Amino acid sequence: MAFELPALPYAQDALAPHISAETLEYHYGKHHQTYVTNLNNLTAGTEHENASLEDVIMNSEAGLFNNSAQVWNHTFYWNSMAPNGGGAPTGEVADAIGSAFGGYDAFVEKFKEAATTQFGSGWAWLVDAGSGLEIMKTSNADLPMKHNAKALLTIDVWEHAYYIDFRNARPNYITTFLDSLVNWDFVAQNMAS
Ligand code: MN
Repeated sequence: MAFELPALPYAQDALAPHISAETLEYHYGKHHQTYVTNLNNLTAGTEHENASLEDVIMNSEAGLFNNSAQVWNHTFYWNSMAPNGGGAPTGEVADAIGSAFGGYDAFVEKFKEAATTQFGSGWAWLVDAGSGLEIMKTSNADLPMKHNAKALLTIDVWEHAYYIDFRNARPNYITTFLDSLVNWDFVAQNMAS
């Protein structure tokens, strides 16, 4: 069965004014779709054709890894955001962030630093690496599952994620993501899974 582009978890204009419908039209409708199309072209007729997306990611390199991981990363990123999201979490997520970083403000500082300093294209993550929460940054399509860590939250810092809405101002995009978009319910689900 061919790999499919998952539906967005909200309407294309639901993250506005923070992330515009135009950004999602291109980022989801063009970029994410292209990774899915490439993945299907690369796996058709191969031993990966009927594998799970995770199995393809863990058993591939080069173009097949890049496209399969980018399919996974973008689905995870859409779910990392929600309309009216952001701000400090509550409950078990707040407790885990407190234990790992000493509080929400310290988490914000570390997450911003990772997302800002990822040179060129990539991702910043909140992960569980087995002994509590950590911040990770990865280049291009690389992702936590390749480093024995479980992803809890991600921000895409490829320029295509923010250039329409924020132009070159990546730090403003990161601040907006944290203040207005983070889906802490998704983080809680990932922590519990
Ligand atoms: Mn992207």
